[in-house]
This record gives sequence, structure tokens and C-alpha cells, in this order.
Amino acid sequence: MYTTQMDAARKGIVTKELKIVAQKENFDVKELQELVAKGQVIIPCNKLHTSINPNGIGDKLRTKINVNLGVSRDCKDMDVELKKVNEAVAMGAESIMDLSSYGDTRKFRKKLTTECEAIIGTVPIYDAVVYYHKPLKEITSEEWIDIVRMHGEDGVDFMTIHCGINKETAHRFKRNKRLTNIVSRGGSIIFAWMEMTGNENPFYERYDEILDICQKYDITMSLGDACRPGCLEDASDVSQLEELITLAELTKRAWEKDVQVMVEGPGHMPINQIEANMCIQKELCKGAPFYVLGPLVTDIAPGYDHITAAIGGAIAATHGASFLCYVTPAEHLRLPTLEDVKEGIIASRIAAHAADIGKGIPGAKEWDFQMSQARKNLDWETMFELGIDSDKARRYREMAQPEKEDTCSMCGNFCAVKNMNRILDGEIVSIFDE
Ligand code: SF4
Repeated sequence: MYTTQMDAARKGIVTKELKIVAQKENFDVKELQELVAKGQVIIPCNKLHTSINPNGIGDKLRTKINVNLGVSRDCKDMDVELKKVNEAVAMGAESIMDLSSYGDTRKFRKKLTTECEAIIGTVPIYDAVVYYHKPLKEITSEEWIDIVRMHGEDGVDFMTIHCGINKETAHRFKRNKRLTNIVSRGGSIIFAWMEMTGNENPFYERYDEILDICQKYDITMSLGDACRPGCLEDASDVSQLEELITLAELTKRAWEKDVQVMVEGPGHMPINQIEANMCIQKELCKGAPFYVLGPLVTDIAPGYDHITAAIGGAIAATHGASFLCYVTPAEHLRLPTLEDVKEGIIASRIAAHAADIGKGIPGAKEWDFQMSQARKNLDWETMFELGIDSDKARRYREMAQPEKEDTCSMCGNFCAVKNMNRILDGEIVSIFDE
């Protein structure tokens, strides 16, 4: 009856996934269907992902967040990674990108698409290098595409495909020197492959074949930005913008085959360039959802990059990005621990929520209203419950118990909230001798 969610929407079919998303977002089904038909909302859900609880991504919906995890040479234990996945979902991540690069990656991937309710994304290019177990140069064009097919069969909902960098982009990149070259892992792999073989990027050259695979399983194409800036110096440069133009063309071609698309974005970027970048992307890609990796607004804070990314993410989402990739404090330094993952998720969720308030997403501001009400009432239990990280809020209060239960140790008797409540209730406020 239909191939993809986009195809269904274009045919006026209301899928069960569309209904669920409309209900979750408090959105009119018909309106949502129109946005899916136009490509401005995506519902990534591979037909073979049996455990999915679908979510929509688009700038008129609540901002979603992605968490990158996966088995690697330095963290081989599948159970440890699965624990992180479950914690991430419990903490509100709508999407998990499985970036596994070691061992039986297929087993882990299949476990995710049969047990995990989050949207599952992958980067087939990483997996190809592990799967074929041979030098990069010897991987054939056919083999790159076979990996995409295999991920489709495994039930992956979206894939980052580095198809925006082609021979033309590569020439331009070499002509226009950058401070940090290509920092995208997938981008650097395919650039190296192109340089060593002299061949065109197979993900670009055989894009139509990839679209056919995506159409068959309803995989959302996440158009990878190989040339995303890796430092402020390289932001909004020739390579980044040239690639974005190619991605806009590829977006259009995907839509012609009813394939759902999102476009990946920066990267590192000065705060004053973010809004313009979002506007350019939205115009060029006709409102396709934008998936940003940060953007990190300064390069000088290793150990705190969950904060630099949250600042950029909040601004990006306010101006049109709809999907934020989390960044942990371990970024640029090491693999994240469970605690790092947690901090990254919270930071990213704060950014997403702040943007949702700015965009007027229904229900976003109400959460803050309730928290403020609890604060005014000095109702600590409700404050803990409403807090984005209830455990931390509770722990902090318990660490420094106030003398008077109805204040906190920050101001004690000088508690403005308590004193204002009392004076407005006609009580005497003394402070000094209380
Ligand atoms: S003591 Fe100070 S910080 Fe604590 S609740 Fe009262 S006004 Fe707020």
C-alpha cells in the first residue's frame, strides 16, 4: 500500500506511527501528515525495527536528542554499552546512534532493533571498515553499498551517509586550506578512500541505489556533513557551504523517491554565525529537519564540551534545528563513562527544552510554570519531581541541610521567597531574631 512514511502521507494514508506521533506532540493528524508529505517532519522507523516507539523530528515539534554509543576496541563489553543505552532512553533520549566499531557489530545492532524503543541510527561507513577486515583501499564500491543494505535488513531507522563529499568538493577542500581539515570520522574515511583509489565517492555516485534500499525498508537518510567545521576558524567556510549545497540537491532527489531525509550540520561554530547557518540550511533544503552536532560555540573548554554544545544547540534549535546530537564532557578526550553520558544527556535536554520554550512548542513553558509555582511555595518535593535531574537536585539539598526546613542553605533566614510570602500574607518579618 505504501513504501515509506512520506509515501503514506503523500497518499493520504494515516499510519499508526503518524497517529502515535500526533498524539505525543498534541498535533493535528492532518497537519502532521502534510508536514511529513513535504519532508518537514520525519518519522524514522524501519519496517523491521520491531520494538520502536516512534517519534517525529521537525522544527514544529518538540526538539529531540540523540545519544551516540557503541562497542569499541576500548569498550568491548556489549552489556556495558547496553546498560548505557537503557539508561540513555530512561533519561529521555529519543534516539541512539550505534557507532560500534569492534567485534560482532551486527549482533549488537540487531539487539537494539529488537529490544530498544528509541530511534536507532548507524553510520555504515564505520561498520564497513570493521566488517570487511581489510585495508581501506581494498574495500570496493559494491562493498560499501552492501553494508548499507545490511544495516537496512537489520532494522536501522536512519543512517548517516557521507554522500555530500564528492570529487568536486574534495578538490575545493584542498584548494581552500582549513585549520583542522576534515574532523568527521566518516568524512575522513571516505576522503582517504577517494584519494587512494582515485574513484568517486560511491555513496554519491550510487546514491540512487542507496535510495532504493532506504525506500524498501523506510530508512531515513541522514545526509552526513563530512566537511562540518572542527573549529571556529573553519566555520561557514567554502568546504562546509559547498557540501551543504550538494546535500540540498541530494535532499530533493531523496524526496523524489519518497525517502525521508534529515541534514546533518555543524560542528564548531561561533555563536553569531549559528542563526544564519540555520536560515541558509532551511532555505536550501526546503525545511528538511536539521540534525546538529553541537554546535560547539568555543574550542577552549575540553572537559566542558557538553556545555559549549548545549549553548550552541539551544541557539540552533531556536532557529530551526530539530534534532540535537548530545555531547559529553569527555568529547575530544576519551570514551564517555556512564556518568559522562548522563551529563551529556541532561545538558542536551536542557538545550532542547530551552529552544522549545523559545519556539512556543505547546507544553514546554508549562513545565517551567509548575517549577516556579513549586519554588514560590517552597515545595521541595515537587521541585525534585519536576527537576530535569531529580536525583541531583535531591542530593544537593541533602548535602547542606538548612537550619529552617522551609528555606535552603543558600540564604537561610534571608530567604526572599519565604519572607515575601509572609509579608504578603500580613505576617511580621523580622529575619534578625528568627
Ligand atoms: S533560601 Fe534563597 S535560594 Fe533558597 S529558596 Fe530561599 S530565596 Fe531561594
